[in-house]
Amino acid sequence: MSNKPLHVVIAGGGTAGWMTANLLAKRWLNQPVTITLVESPDIGIIGVGEGSTPTLKRFFSDMGIAEQDWMPECNATYKVSIRFEGWSPGANIPAYSHPFISQLDTFSERSFYVNCFHRRMGQDVTTRPDEFLFNGWLAKHQRSPVTPPNFPFRIEYGYHFDSGLVGEFLKKHAQGLGVIHKALNITDVECHPNGDIAALHSKEGERVEGDFFIDCTGFQSLLLQKTLGVNFKSFKDNLFNDSAVVCPTPAQTELPVETRATALSAGWAWQIPLTNRTGNGYVYSSDFISDEQAASELCRHLGVEEESAALRKITMNVGQVERHWAKNCLAVGLSQGFIEPLEATALHLVQTSVEIFLDHVDEGGFSETQRRAYNQLISERFERVRDYIVAHYRLNTRSDSEYWLANQNNENLSDSLLHLLNVWYRRGDLGQEIQRQQLDSHFGNTSWHCLLAGYGAFPPLEKGATATDLYKQNELAAFFEGCLLNFKAQ
Ligand code: FAD
Repeated sequence: MSNKPLHVVIAGGGTAGWMTANLLAKRWLNQPVTITLVESPDIGIIGVGEGSTPTLKRFFSDMGIAEQDWMPECNATYKVSIRFEGWSPGANIPAYSHPFISQLDTFSERSFYVNCFHRRMGQDVTTRPDEFLFNGWLAKHQRSPVTPPNFPFRIEYGYHFDSGLVGEFLKKHAQGLGVIHKALNITDVECHPNGDIAALHSKEGERVEGDFFIDCTGFQSLLLQKTLGVNFKSFKDNLFNDSAVVCPTPAQTELPVETRATALSAGWAWQIPLTNRTGNGYVYSSDFISDEQAASELCRHLGVEEESAALRKITMNVGQVERHWAKNCLAVGLSQGFIEPLEATALHLVQTSVEIFLDHVDEGGFSETQRRAYNQLISERFERVRDYIVAHYRLNTRSDSEYWLANQNNENLSDSLLHLLNVWYRRGDLGQEIQRQQLDSHFGNTSWHCLLAGYGAFPPLEKGATATDLYKQNELAAFFEGCLLNFKAQ
């Protein structure tokens, strides 16, 4: 970065706005940069987004914020996995988990695990890797992933939290790092003759100038889409869900350490345990069910009276913008795009979008070359995350509604996803393919194996072969051997 003072203006103070403010302030602490965040005092935040991936753990740790400081203030709990219930009855799999991956740091008894796995595979071809992995065990026994010093595993985990309270917490923290906060309703965006954004105008009569702007105004995307006219590419042709209805219920007495995603007739319902309440919501496709039917189905699923339930309807724009960084404006959060919340990836994408942006600026400033490289990278990340979510819908084995059948028959898969499935069903090296496509930036080898195994999507058995033969021949063997070698090497 040059020594010229830079004024960055963030529009929007949802979780995306405040995470961005913190990341920028921390990275540019000793640079001549002023950061102002403008947030409407009247327009609320979306207020959902209560589950994270382990990346958020890195966020808090990079910020120097201890769990004991933020978690109690945000009613947060630990999350070691996501449990998918009822997605694969056709493969006789009532539920499976997608655990975050933990690794053995020092343990060398590799043969124990290999033998254990062999025994299981010998008994049952549908044995799922998630039960074999450490986080699967933690989830099953509702154990905290926090370990004492010198514990031989590095346990990966994320969190469940109240997103409004996280925003409040991060606001205080960012202000402590010098971020200026302005409570204003943006009514107009002023541009320079070259099309760059010059200033934000507010209903309150204030004009906020800046050199660089970050659009965190949520689905409205006031700056990037509405002012600069960047197009939005919908993922509707392969992700059908466009709506959600939410309904909190009282906290559970025994707090699970996983999110539950239960398949319903035209989508799925999340259950997220917080310390003071349980977050619930039904994500569905309005092409297959009406809002009223979805609300009733969610209430039945939760066992609550519809008349007294605190129901809230949300419309989702699923897709991404054509360019995440255009002119002197970067979009972060819902304003840049959204992939439905099945794997709780939105805040992960917020964090990595900002981190990668900062890396690009550190490397080459605000140049066109950096902008182009950044846009390509972030676009691909969105697409590859989308592929993983699409795979859930494509591989489901439900047959009880038009919705699930339409998903199974969906032919609009990306080349990348088709290729990956092709490699898997032909017993190729899935790990190598994931690396080749650089998919492990988000969902690595284990995630894909959990998903495929969770849907009973195995390559066909050769005639006369047994389950153990399958294990020996196919790539699961290499995968587990590889994992265990990793354990040994650490
Ligand atoms: P918002 O929260 O909508 O914030 C927008 C901000 O812009 C607000 O501060 C508002 O005041 C401001 N603003 C808007 N217009 C103006 C204006 N004119 N003037 C001034 N300010 C303005 N993410 C996860 O990581 N995990 C999950 O489990 C998850 N679940 C989700 C479930 C659903 C159903 C949905 C829809 C989303 C979910 N998300 C999840 C996504 C997550 O909610 C968002 O990514 C996250 O909250 C960030 O939102 P945001 O800050 O971009 O937008």
